[in-house]
Amino acid sequence: MAKDNVHPWRAYGLQTQSIRAGQARTPENEHSDPIFVTSSYVFDNASQAQARFSGQEPGNIYSRFTNPTVRTFEERLALMEGGERCIATASGMAAIMTLCMGILQAGDHVLCSRSVFGNTILLLKNFMSKFGVDTEFVPLTDLDAWRGGVRPSTRFLFLETPSNPLTEVADIRALADIAHDAGALLVVDNVFCTPALQKPLALGADIVVHSATKYLDGQGRCVGGAIVGREELLEKHTYPFLRTGGASMSPFNAWVFLTGLETLALRMAGHCDNALKLARWLESQPGVRRVFYPGLPSHPQYELAAKQQSGAGGIVSFVVEGGQQAAWNLIDSTKMVSITANLGDVKTTITHPATTTHGRLSPEERDRAGIDDGLIRISVGLENVEDIQRDLERGLPS
Ligand SMILES: *Cc1c(COP(=O)(O)O)cnc(C)c1O
Repeated sequence: MAKDNVHPWRAYGLQTQSIRAGQARTPENEHSDPIFVTSSYVFDNASQAQARFSGQEPGNIYSRFTNPTVRTFEERLALMEGGERCIATASGMAAIMTLCMGILQAGDHVLCSRSVFGNTILLLKNFMSKFGVDTEFVPLTDLDAWRGGVRPSTRFLFLETPSNPLTEVADIRALADIAHDAGALLVVDNVFCTPALQKPLALGADIVVHSATKYLDGQGRCVGGAIVGREELLEKHTYPFLRTGGASMSPFNAWVFLTGLETLALRMAGHCDNALKLARWLESQPGVRRVFYPGLPSHPQYELAAKQQSGAGGIVSFVVEGGQQAAWNLIDSTKMVSITANLGDVKTTITHPATTTHGRLSPEERDRAGIDDGLIRISVGLENVEDIQRDLERGLPS
């Protein structure tokens, strides 16, 4: 990716970047981004092949390493996150795995929020542990636990904010200070906010990871992921693993994500609008015991979220009176919203965390994680909010 001083898009706003950055027109002068469907690239002669393979000459060799459509996506997302470099991956989990394999070694320690995506916990607990990496899990918003948890061997701190499904908000700047004081990196999974609402790198984080599957696509079509950060950090540690390990993004998926990015800021504004209206309405319903949404003054980190994010996001969770039976009844009474685990889609989706995403936990573990049997998570879509409301109202306990 081009350096700062020659990169014209760095001076532009996020929406402009999301629409225009990263595209290198071919001699055909196409207006829309092309999809480069090719596994390898042709060399002019044997000596050029040698120069490319040895790294003396930059350029394409093979699409596991680089692909022009994927590179456009990488440059665009890097700019939007305010990072120097982005590495696109086959999925969000591939991004986290690539990061782990690229920068960790036996004897290293990872300090991770307890409230992260379930597969992130499994990756660290069941797989990275096989290679001698020790992970400790701490409560997301407890700064003392983070401070007390770092060790000399801690390589990075990892978190998501807001968390899923309870939308707890972590103080990124404070955690960056804790990480840096300990000589460790801060990694933030920015899936819930996207760069349209939150820029962790500007708040002191070193690396951002994404599941492009969610809001970056925004229409529930493709699986993909990304790592964003400093050139030196990603070039030395994570890119070499990606091109060798092979969890690369497909050009078609990159093209879908490029079209998704074009409307990201507009969609996020719409998700925030609908979510706030829905959260306020839910809070006024007698059958609802509690609503979790960072845009409500009743949220424990309302002020931090207002300071750190430019919008409260599209995820709203709430607890209905009557436990699992009542929650399932509400879910099964809906006619429009989709019962599916994906989030960040223009279509509203609904899940029951206690029996799906958090179903593997024991009742005690769920209790400790705050996952009530009556908890419902909504990824608020862009339908008319009155229609979403009507769809949920039908099954609300009165
Ligand atoms: C979905 C998700 C992931 C994993 O992404 P995939 O694209 O499904 O592999 C990681 N983190 C968060 C917060 C997610 O929501």
